[in-house]
Amino acid sequence: MFLTPFIIVVPYALYLVFRYNYWYNHRPIEKHYKLILERHYAYYRDLPIELKGPFERRVALFVRGKTYYGQHGLEITDEMRVLVAATAVQITFGFKFFQLPRFSKIFIYPKKYFNQHTKKHHKGEVYPMGKLIRLSWDNFLHGLKDPEDGINLGLHEMTHAMSLENRIKSNGAHSYIDPQAHALWRKLAIAEMEKINRKEKSLFRAYAGTNLEEFLACSVEVFFEQTQQFNDYHPALYQATCRLLKQDPLPNKSNREYLI
Ligand SMILES: [Zn+2]
Repeated sequence: MFLTPFIIVVPYALYLVFRYNYWYNHRPIEKHYKLILERHYAYYRDLPIELKGPFERRVALFVRGKTYYGQHGLEITDEMRVLVAATAVQITFGFKFFQLPRFSKIFIYPKKYFNQHTKKHHKGEVYPMGKLIRLSWDNFLHGLKDPEDGINLGLHEMTHAMSLENRIKSNGAHSYIDPQAHALWRKLAIAEMEKINRKEKSLFRAYAGTNLEEFLACSVEVFFEQTQQFNDYHPALYQATCRLLKQDPLPNKSNREYLI
């Protein structure tokens, strides 16, 4: 008789926790979030119908899992939350892990901002020690406005975040990049960086020659925005990038195979 309340209360509490978790993880995307994706996010619009649902759920979970901070008087809107989340989900769409748990805070500035540590103005940064990603909103929007110019701040910074997360072993989400795929990509990337640094003609901008992380971030911008040109320019590097990210966005590929 003494145990009766426990027999009833404990399973009921567990049931409530389970129900909350289920609701948190599986409830559909908010309707107005979906509208924002439809209006402003080309990658989402181009996805085959069966992949739209998974993309939406990942965006909704990413938004729920992060805290967004408006800087210098900027007010955070749902459009900001959804579009920033969408760039992260796009980069990680081929992986099981997409939450980038190391980065719990997203700081959004109205425009380029001054960093006291680097003494420079930045458009965006990824700072794993502070668990944060910084983005300037006008540059972020500029990147989205032309989805074919190979310049996209959101994709650039989220690629840095994804690559760092892959290497940081302090949480459950790491080592999702296949080491063999990475080794092949690295070999081809170094050769292309050398070409850039010799000032030879390349599809990638000069900044991509800075180091491997910048090459990855800059080439991923081109991978998603100038997909056909990338494939025509360097098919082996294009395929290596597909294997690295486990997705192939080439829009006119006959079978539209997005996830590989
Ligand atoms: Zn960078």
